[in-house]
Amino acid sequence: MNPKPNIVDLPVYKPGKPIEEVKKELGLEEVIKLASNENPYGASPSAKAAIVAELENLSLYPDGAAAELTSALASHLGVKSENIIFGCGSDEIIALITRAFFLPGDETIMADQTFSVYKSNADIESAVSIEVPLVEGTHDLDGMLARITDRTKVIWICNPNNPTGTIVPEQALITFLDSVPANVMVVLDEAYCEYVTDLTYSDGIKLLERYPNLVVLRTFSKIYGLAALRIGYGVASPQIITLINQVREPFNTSRLAQAAALAALKDQAYVQECRRLNSAGIVQLQDEFKRLGLKSFPAHGNFIMVDVRKPGTEVFDALLRKGVIVRAGHRLYPTYIRVTVGSAEQNRAFVAALEQTLAEQGVKA
Ligand SMILES: *Cc1c(COP(=O)(O)O)cnc(C)c1O
Repeated sequence: MNPKPNIVDLPVYKPGKPIEEVKKELGLEEVIKLASNENPYGASPSAKAAIVAELENLSLYPDGAAAELTSALASHLGVKSENIIFGCGSDEIIALITRAFFLPGDETIMADQTFSVYKSNADIESAVSIEVPLVEGTHDLDGMLARITDRTKVIWICNPNNPTGTIVPEQALITFLDSVPANVMVVLDEAYCEYVTDLTYSDGIKLLERYPNLVVLRTFSKIYGLAALRIGYGVASPQIITLINQVREPFNTSRLAQAAALAALKDQAYVQECRRLNSAGIVQLQDEFKRLGLKSFPAHGNFIMVDVRKPGTEVFDALLRKGVIVRAGHRLYPTYIRVTVGSAEQNRAFVAALEQTLAEQGVKA
């Protein structure tokens, strides 16, 4: 058999370790997962009720166009239905964009430490990824502009950036968008936007009218707590949305996902409460990091990148043995771990495990 040569050596995506696997492997009863930026409070109760009601219709195909959800989301965002496309997670929208736009040898620009799905999909399509170094964990927009060539198709801006948690301020983003040629697409990945409280943060949706080459990505997996159901979306000009729709599978989001997302969207009080609790959790963790003498990046999502001053993978293993799963192994930040902001109780358990680990490894405050 002859696979596409460019996919033969592609690494398989390594997700955060599942709780059940860690419990079994290490014989632990209590395991806390703070590795995949999941909502520690779960989904809105109304989303669960909507799923139960929708169970009546399991034998029926979903509405491929997700018309009811699209219309509700359009009025929530203040856009039109033709500006929206749903995907099996926003991961799928990323894949569909690369599928619709990249020819072998096309170039695509992204930060050197950002969400890995941009590059993995570019690799699958034989596009060339130009990785521009972050500056203090933040996108270097001027550096990215400087790398645009005649072959550039798409620029990816992850805002807040996963894994560093930093944001690009609105004014810098506007200056950048003003300078990007109209034939180059800018994808603004706002998976964590609902968590952001910083006043300099831009709402990408507001910028869409001014920049027809802009695509905003969002998801129900993070603050809405529906990661299991795989539903996210892209917002852009009708022309771009049509092109992406042309390469979409007919039934890419399920009935259960659409029903739950619709109910979750309507429960904005729940979203607001999750944002408030998350902000308190960031303060809680940052105070503890300060006490332990650890530096962290400014955190604007529901996760924090903290320098543990030892190989992150070793700290990861030690925390795992104490029943706490985090994320480590960031190529350019080998002494950092990324921890999801949990509930106050989970955060306390994580900090206790971290403090013990640092003592064992001889890291002094
Ligand atoms: C989690 C995440 C996504 C996508 O999540 P889906 O579950 O596929 O919607 C997209 N971008 C970033 C930066 C993320 O962290």
